[in-house]
Amino acid sequence: MEPLRFKKIYLEITNVCNLRCPFCPPGRRPPAFMGREEYLRALEQLRPYTQYLYFHVKGEPLLHPLLPEFLALAGERGLEFGLKLSNTFPVEVKNKELPAEEMYMAGKSLFPLTIEMARRVSRDFDGRLRLSYSGGADYFNIDRLFQCGVWPVTMATTALKPGGYQRFTQIAEKLEALPFAPFTRVDTAGVEALALAARRDPLHVKAVKPLPRRKLAESYGRLCALLSNQGVTVVCCTISMFHSVRAWNRANIPGYYEVYLEASMDTLRRRDQKGLYSRNADNVAGVGLQVELPDTADLILDNNGQSTPEEQVALLCWAAKEGV
Ligand code: SF4
Repeated sequence: MEPLRFKKIYLEITNVCNLRCPFCPPGRRPPAFMGREEYLRALEQLRPYTQYLYFHVKGEPLLHPLLPEFLALAGERGLEFGLKLSNTFPVEVKNKELPAEEMYMAGKSLFPLTIEMARRVSRDFDGRLRLSYSGGADYFNIDRLFQCGVWPVTMATTALKPGGYQRFTQIAEKLEALPFAPFTRVDTAGVEALALAARRDPLHVKAVKPLPRRKLAESYGRLCALLSNQGVTVVCCTISMFHSVRAWNRANIPGYYEVYLEASMDTLRRRDQKGLYSRNADNVAGVGLQVELPDTADLILDNNGQSTPEEQVALLCWAAKEGV
């Protein structure tokens, strides 16, 4: 009688892992890597029951030092492998986003990381290791993944978005239009191109959030204090329209001397530097954003264009000489 065949069989070749997922089942087994003899015995026992082995129970199989040899040994016996990349990626909770220490990156931000992993793995295994894929796969990249021989693909984040389930119809139509060929190997050059493009693709790269203005002004102050405390003369040009920041600077920066370059709103609008005032000025200090103008500056320089730079320098020299 033919033995019962399984679609795939999971084999744990190590319980050593470089992650600490909070949902990881606890256990008392000492860390261990399966040896070559034990692995060969397991192969002989499992071979009649499946064509696919998955090294995924507990532990990180990529940490196993004999992994390339294990893959070759299984290949010689007609067994195939798959590597799944990657459902989620644990990241620290830093700004109280969630009431926990860790949360999980998924969706489009995960794509550049996962496709980079796919690039490295397919390069190291010369495209022979079959990859199934999840991290950041969506309507916009599924065709390119498929054409590179990276499939099957699983998706969850798409389904959680508004209209997500309808999206699957579009995904299916997109895939159906592509010619199908059974898997032979991963197109390593195609994956490499995908990984490089993902680093700049606005679909996958979120804009870096600018530091809030107050934090930025505070960091300039701290940097000046750090340098001044080492005897360096520092000239720093900063907007810093916050009383608290200037008060901190005065209390903490040795020899602090504050010069306020004052220009009227008429002047600023007329100069219209970088088009700041003629475009939507909601985010411009002093127009859409309230500012706290300096009220204890050591020196105020009129910057409305009524004096030349030479006159301004002369004024500065006079102030320095007089100790004003
Ligand atoms: S990857 Fe798996 S074995 Fe490793 S910590 Fe997470 S759950 Fe545990």
